[in-house]
Amino acid sequence: MSDNCLFCKIAKGDIPSKKAYEDEDFFVFHDINPAAPVHLLVIPKHHVVSMQAVQADDAQWLGRMMALAPKLAQENGCTPGHEGGFRLVINTGIEGGQEIDHLHMHIIGGPRPWDKRAAPAA
Ligand code: AMP
Ligand code: ZN
Repeated sequence: MSDNCLFCKIAKGDIPSKKAYEDEDFFVFHDINPAAPVHLLVIPKHHVVSMQAVQADDAQWLGRMMALAPKLAQENGCTPGHEGGFRLVINTGIEGGQEIDHLHMHIIGGPRPWDKRAAPAA
């Protein structure tokens, strides 16, 4: 827990969110300003500022976080199969477009068209 971190407070339940999933290590909730029909945020319960702080010994929990994505995507309305799918995004640092300094993975999907914010950079 980092003082004054919005996502630490959400993971602890101190600030309300629309929860989609929780286990020992991760908390998953719906983005308050969705860029697509499905827009989830997956956060580690421990405070990690960004991918810039990640080191080799973080590989295990990061792998588990990635591995949650297909199940969460499908359970929350992403279309299965080749014609469907989803986008995983981890914005990192100011130039990487990160607004909240607690590492989070966006799961973005659902039928198109999506908001322009969800499109790849030109
Ligand atoms: P990023 O730009 O990658 O740091 O993304 C931060 C995301 O957090 C944005 O998509 C916001 O809409 C979302 N967000 C900010 N505050 C909240 C909140 N209280 N509950 C849910 N999502 C939030
Ligand atoms: Zn935090």
